Amino acid sequence: MFNFTDKKNQKDERYYQAYLSHHVISRRNLFRGILGGSEKHLQQDAKRAVPRPPFAAKEHLFLNACNGCGDCVSACPNSILQISEGKVMLDLGYSTCSFCGRCADACIQQALHRAFRADTELRPTFLSSCIQHSHQSCECCQQACPKQAISPDLQVDPLRCNGCGECQLSCFVSAIRLTLDS
Ligand code: SF4
Ligand code: SF4
Ligand code: SF4
Repeated sequence: MFNFTDKKNQKDERYYQAYLSHHVISRRNLFRGILGGSEKHLQQDAKRAVPRPPFAAKEHLFLNACNGCGDCVSACPNSILQISEGKVMLDLGYSTCSFCGRCADACIQQALHRAFRADTELRPTFLSSCIQHSHQSCECCQQACPKQAISPDLQVDPLRCNGCGECQLSCFVSAIRLTLDS
């Protein structure tokens, strides 16, 4: 059990209150899910080592809340989720995320919740095999991007991009890698 007079948890509470002011969700249930598990993962600056589904809580809270039940995995129509080391991770190697939100709806732990960012935090990088590097014309990834986040000279607007994976899938020479935004 956590005591909300604790400074660290007060910071977490403020963080989630910002969401609560914009979204109608159960505050009691949110904290039960987010802060109801093991204390061992509650490190404020935990960075994602692997990609998570969209709508995931901040990593240190996600690690505490996700119990690896796999309900989100079963709910995902695109089969891009899997359980690894007892937590759900995202794999956009063979498909993309449509941000349908079914994973979040399935998560009773609220490790995933529609109130959190609809962003996988993955961002594309372009490899030397990209044919634009050999001065050939190609607009496949630009046209595939539903957010118009890729410019003609392959600059990616990190604020527009939501890490859906459409660009990676569209590249016929496999010159795009999605990596976690640091
Ligand atoms: S449904 Fe929630 S608790 Fe279960 S594996 Fe997915 S994220 Fe974790
Ligand atoms: S938002 Fe939809 S497509 Fe994306 S991971 Fe969740 S269930 Fe799968
Ligand atoms: S298709 Fe666009 S929004 Fe999706 S990952 Fe690529 S750059 Fe980002």
